[in-house]
Amino acid sequence: MLDAEFFRRWMTATAAAVDREAERLTELDSPIGDADHGSNLRRGFTAVAAALEKDPPDTPGAVLTLAGRQLISTVGGASGPLYGTLLRRTGKELGEAAEVSEAQFADALRAGVDAVAKLGGAVPGDKTMVDALEPAVAELATSFRAAAEAAARGAEATVPLIARKGRASYLGERSAGHQDPGATSTALLFAALAEAAG
Ligand code: ADP
Ligand code: MG
Ligand code: MG
Repeated sequence: MLDAEFFRRWMTATAAAVDREAERLTELDSPIGDADHGSNLRRGFTAVAAALEKDPPDTPGAVLTLAGRQLISTVGGASGPLYGTLLRRTGKELGEAAEVSEAQFADALRAGVDAVAKLGGAVPGDKTMVDALEPAVAELATSFRAAAEAAARGAEATVPLIARKGRASYLGERSAGHQDPGATSTALLFAALAEAAG
């Protein structure tokens, strides 16, 4: 079973990974975006970590909804509302239970990923975070480690794609040959999940 402490560890590990990798995320966002993905997420997850520390919620659902709200209110870019929706929707699905099973978490995250796809209108192959989210959530029932590896492979597989959503889509064919920054940060999110699980 997974408790609130586990979900707080996940968010804290994500904040640390985003802080460590912020320059790389921003570098990926320079040829096909506006060079702010690392700073956007660093600001967002710093706020998430601070909010969780200040007033630690005691259910898994409340941890993720608080994290999602922080991302929506602190990140100006497209990624803030999208990641915010992912976490808020997943948290809402988890309800008020003090502990959730891994299967319940996998179902909730599926609903979260569906909400991201609906909000942003992206499908797999559009060169967005959905290209890492979809394979990760599909592997979640296997193990958190398998989900993290699937997210990393999904991010790498965005390199040859032509972007059809977000800023990178303005470049058309010139967006090919670059890894999508949002899919790359999704790989960090799932690596942090595997790390939190130990
Ligand atoms: P912005 O593009 O507003 O500067 P960020 O740089 O923080 O925002 O985030 C860019 C990332 O957001 C992209 O690399 C992509 O993965 C993701 N993204 C952008 N638009 C969409 C969308 N419509 N659906 C899913 N993901 C998207
Ligand atoms: Mg950007
Ligand atoms: Mg921007």
